[in-house]
Amino acid sequence: MKKYFAMLLAGMMAVSLVACGGSSTASAPAEAPAEAEAEAEAPAEEEVTEEETTAAEATAETTEETAEMTTVEAGVLHMATNAAFPPYEMISDNGGFEGIDVEIATEIARKLGLELVVDDMEFGSVITSVQSGKSDIAMAGLTVTEERKQNVDFTTSYATGIQVIIVPEDSDILTVDDLANDKMIGVQDGTTGYIYCSDDYGEDHITSYTNGAMAIEALKGGKVDAVVIDNEPARAFVAANDGLKILDTEYIVENYAIGVSKDNPGLCEAVNNALTELIADGTVQMIVDKYITAE
Ligand code: GLN
Repeated sequence: MKKYFAMLLAGMMAVSLVACGGSSTASAPAEAPAEAEAEAEAPAEEEVTEEETTAAEATAETTEETAEMTTVEAGVLHMATNAAFPPYEMISDNGGFEGIDVEIATEIARKLGLELVVDDMEFGSVITSVQSGKSDIAMAGLTVTEERKQNVDFTTSYATGIQVIIVPEDSDILTVDDLANDKMIGVQDGTTGYIYCSDDYGEDHITSYTNGAMAIEALKGGKVDAVVIDNEPARAFVAANDGLKILDTEYIVENYAIGVSKDNPGLCEAVNNALTELIADGTVQMIVDKYITAE
């Protein structure tokens, strides 16, 4: 039953997304950029830049406290992430960082006149890194939850994540409901997959791993019966490993957004404005399309 409550909650969060702890901002449905793209053709680059500045100033003026944009390190935007979450963030062949989040963050930094630096860490540390003033933003396929909203402010959402179930091809787990049949579920530490599965099936039925790749290894080695993880990393892991499949049934639908320190409303507004523009002009969709091909 709890499962359905969790799904309802996730649905409610989807409609009540509020950016930067302030008033409601439109979230980013997948269709939006396409429409915006059609309208966007017109203005010359310079005009757009002017408009951006005006929009940013206007927002800053209406924010009650002085919304000055500061970063941990002058001229730099530090992004806390876990670069083991393809296609959102991963280590490239040449040892750098790549992925949807990395590219969106690069564009945001560029708009703000900053250089992006990726701080790679365990997923469980990305929010604390922002809270403790070590990183400026947490961008890690990070799902918006009410609990996390107590710790960081979130921008508008830029993507949807779906918790899915990976099983061996010959598994007797056919639907979400079969997870309740005394199964052992592998999840990643500190993720929403962990939270939902421990709520729905109990801690005794959960084994948590530092990252998705380790959970997949455990699944291949028969240590767990299923892995619950976000859909796009799931597709990447299943493509890279023989003998696994993703169940057709979705578990939970969520929104990804960028987490910013509650002590830095000016930065949150600036990042949110930049992100909103990148969604509106189709840049975010273009980046997503580069990494995610339609099934
Ligand atoms: N979307 C999930 C969460 O926010 C997992 C993110 C991740 O593992 N990088 O908990």
